[in-house]
Amino acid sequence: MVDNRLPKTWSEALKMRADEEVIPYFGGTDLMVRGNRTPNYLFLNQVAEIVDYEISDEVRIGAGVTYSTILENEYTPNLLKLIVEEVASPALRNMASVIGNVCNASPVGDTLPLFYAFDAVLELESVEGGREIPITDFIVDARKTSLKSNELVRAIRFKNLKYNNEYYQKVGPRSACSISKVDFVGVANTENGIVKDIRMAIGAVKNVIVRDVEFEKTLIGLEISELKSKTKKIMDFYNGIITPIDDKRSTEKYRRQVVLNLIEDFISTIK
Ligand SMILES: Cc1cc2nc3c(=O)[nH]c(=O)nc-3n(C[C@H](O)[C@H](O)[C@H](O)COP(=O)(O)OP(=O)(O)OC[C@H]3O[C@@H](n4cnc5c(N)ncnc54)[C@H](O)[C@@H]3O)c2cc1C
Repeated sequence: MVDNRLPKTWSEALKMRADEEVIPYFGGTDLMVRGNRTPNYLFLNQVAEIVDYEISDEVRIGAGVTYSTILENEYTPNLLKLIVEEVASPALRNMASVIGNVCNASPVGDTLPLFYAFDAVLELESVEGGREIPITDFIVDARKTSLKSNELVRAIRFKNLKYNNEYYQKVGPRSACSISKVDFVGVANTENGIVKDIRMAIGAVKNVIVRDVEFEKTLIGLEISELKSKTKKIMDFYNGIITPIDDKRSTEKYRRQVVLNLIEDFISTIK
């Protein structure tokens, strides 16, 4: 039998989480399709405090923020907006939370490449207090996080960095049922023809999102023309670290080729 917990406040939710084994539930759009028949769900969608979405020097997205809330806010950073516009259909975007996408820890989660590219940090809370953790330590494997059994995610936040080159491509089957075959976020800042910052994050080509900060550092300081002349080397590097799978959505070969094409395209657009 399904047994539900319906907290009205965040502290009530934390207490319920501490008291017994419950599965946190916001929109349920991931949980519903998993079809667990004997769950104790902790419904978070009646907790008013967590619908907080703040945009200043940092972007902070509370646990109750849906994709629609993000789209409706005129200050949403452009790249985040581009990504959210590509998530499923309006009906799903009205129900589903961004935090649910992160906690699901799927390598095909659309918001994850952005959070990896922007070094996002998660705020976790339990009745014992709070802690913060970078997304790279929070997601430890495909569909596996380091969340403790008495903790909930309160929010995710990242620096609201501005880039003069922003690139996002999602390759999926069709709108409204568009689980990604491949997701790619690339950002770069250039000044007087020199690369000052460059970041690339790729989804759906490994158990977790692929980003290599050390490799990115080797590209910083290059002239744009020098960067472009290294395109093949850059593609070879990522070709060596991705391990796409064959599944019902796509073949390994297809995913690999598409990612390399996207990297090539991103580099070619940098100005
Ligand atoms: C038809 C359809 C289309 C979809 N299309 C896309 C798509 O285009 N792109 C995409 O990325 N995803 C897609 N999804 C997947 C899903 O909608 C998203 O991952 C969504 O963001 C999940 O949010 P939710 O609030 O529904 O999460 P839920 O299903 O409620 O929860 C997801 C996971 O997060 C955990 N969780 C939720 N909140 C918390 C919290 N505060 N603390 C700790 N754990 C928590 C839950 O326990 C669960 O493990 C699709 C799903 C469906 C059914």
